Amino acid sequence: MNQEAYRRILGQIPSDVQLVAVSKTKPESEVLAAYQLGQRHFGENWAQELKTKHEHLPKDICWHFIGHLQTNKIKYIIPYVHLIHSIDSFRLLQEVNRQAAIHQRTVGCLLQFHIATEDTKFGFSMEECQQMLESQEFQLLQNVEIQGVMGMASLTDDIQQVHQEFRTLHEYFDALKQNYFSENQNFKEISMGMSHDYPIAIEEGSTMIRVGSAIFGERDYSKR
Ligand SMILES: *Cc1c(COP(=O)(O)O)cnc(C)c1O
Repeated sequence: MNQEAYRRILGQIPSDVQLVAVSKTKPESEVLAAYQLGQRHFGENWAQELKTKHEHLPKDICWHFIGHLQTNKIKYIIPYVHLIHSIDSFRLLQEVNRQAAIHQRTVGCLLQFHIATEDTKFGFSMEECQQMLESQEFQLLQNVEIQGVMGMASLTDDIQQVHQEFRTLHEYFDALKQNYFSENQNFKEISMGMSHDYPIAIEEGSTMIRVGSAIFGERDYSKR
């Protein structure tokens, strides 16, 4: 890992913004190196990889799941996952709830929104999300706790566009808070910002940034 970059990022971000170090594809030794500098929140996007790392690494690590989650992989992460950032359908949320009930826990979840112009990114639209939140079936879920929202901005050099997309996510958060979660103190997270755009995300009110390559270097997916 790049210790200097890690310290620089930590020094730059406000103390109430959580840094999630995205360690996907990186060896356990890299996670440990960051752990030894005090980092406890790590993000992964592949359930099997997360399972193996969880088994081998210190148990006080808070593991965040940030990738597209297939329903048949939920079982690998439910017993210990700290926060799932990537709930993008009601079906997925129901399945997380079902598995969480089996393990007698309540699992924190963020609702992922589609804010980018690229249509390759997963996520709810506001309309789909409201439909879910207003449904009776949603009220029945006892083993998930919705703690906020997550989104990814377009990959573009147009800084104003990135600002606008993050601002949109913040507005979604405010609207959901007001209409559905005003009584829920734990609905407070806006997970936005990655290596190339986290300063913009913080300006737009991010509470949680997910930074990988700026800390651990470029990823080589062929090694997975
Ligand atoms: C990989 C990934 C990140 C981290 O990306 P970097 O550009 O390496 O910082 C953040 N969020 C999600 C959802 C990711 O999949």
